[in-house]
Amino acid sequence: AFSHVVRGPEDPILGVTVAYNKDPSPVKLNLGVGAYRTEEGKPLVLNVVRKAEQLLVNDTSRVKEYLPITGLAEFNKLSAKLMFGANSPAIQENRVTTVQCLSGTGSLRVGAEFLAKHYHQRTIYIPQPTWGNHPKIFTLAGLSVKTYRYYDPVTRGLNFQGLVEDLNSAPSGAIVLLHACAHNPTGVDPTFQQWEQIRKLMRSKGLMPFFDSAYQGFASGSLDADAQPVRMFVADGGELLLAQSYAKNMGLYGERIGALSIVCKTADVAGRVESQLKLVIRPMYSNPPIHGASIVAAILKDRDLYNEWTIELKAMADRIISMRQKLFEALRARGTPGDWSHIVKQIGMFTFTGLNSKQVAFMTKEYHIYMTSDGRISMAGLSSKTVPHLADAMHAAVKR
Ligand code: PMP
Repeated sequence: AFSHVVRGPEDPILGVTVAYNKDPSPVKLNLGVGAYRTEEGKPLVLNVVRKAEQLLVNDTSRVKEYLPITGLAEFNKLSAKLMFGANSPAIQENRVTTVQCLSGTGSLRVGAEFLAKHYHQRTIYIPQPTWGNHPKIFTLAGLSVKTYRYYDPVTRGLNFQGLVEDLNSAPSGAIVLLHACAHNPTGVDPTFQQWEQIRKLMRSKGLMPFFDSAYQGFASGSLDADAQPVRMFVADGGELLLAQSYAKNMGLYGERIGALSIVCKTADVAGRVESQLKLVIRPMYSNPPIHGASIVAAILKDRDLYNEWTIELKAMADRIISMRQKLFEALRARGTPGDWSHIVKQIGMFTFTGLNSKQVAFMTKEYHIYMTSDGRISMAGLSSKTVPHLADAMHAAVKR
């Protein structure tokens, strides 16, 4: 019955790890997937997460019953507060519905399924380029995907004029995917002034914002600063969708913990929207897992744990920033041709190096360095020890 099935391609990002795992070289380096590593190159479980897990284990009143379809209520409330702010009018007026989903990806998918069923416009505009999973998530949910200009390869910065032109010519009501901060893969974000222009333009055209927040706290090291663009869109009283992930900022990758929020015009609408989200979720996976949500809630609701989290989060962000500086200096020391200042200017987990797919293939073959073919490197996978090796490889690739 299945002999006609052809082998599918590896995922362009996760496939990098598959190739890396097969390489026996002792100097191999995986800069593909965006997962934080310590200076020793090891995965990191935050101390505050260990503490929260200990609290959960010690609490014998905790059981393993099913969560509601919408997940852990306390987690949902705290997640909305983390992004929208404690004094958000939208929260105070009960105009927000938040449902626990399977990390950022699951939140995007549930939001997209809801839009495909209940929103009058099926077209979603995503930035060019964007995270590789975006077009697939939205297409399979039943939306029609178009792109807006975002990155300018010449300046290695934002193509703001192109972005404005493309959003201006989008049909009224179209959905627009926005990276809340630390745009993946480019590391290029609009300034607050540009965000304000984007907001005005989108509201005047009735475009529906769908924020993807996978890096709150990772861009600037401050949770509030990184939430600013989203809060600007909430402050004007308009509607929006938000997908939140705790994979990176709490290091909870494999716990698959995130949330979808939909900000509505009234509490009544929010209640009805939530009832429909349940109808999307129930036949998909029934209800979400309990452990990750319990960890996040334990940290967010306790002042001491919360403070400890912000310190550990800042330390991760700072280590990434210091890797940018080290790589930039290593290239300068080698006299590598080209202007590499974008390495220190870009923000978040990734550097969009500007290396082409041939140069990437060369670095993988000759230097055992693994990264996506678009030249994106995960700065979080670098350490002081491995920067020279990467700089040697980049130097050789550019000089060829
Ligand atoms: N959106 C963006 C932009 C991302 O970079 C990621 C993680 N790579 C995600 C969403 C979702 O990740 P997860 O499903 O692991 O939370």
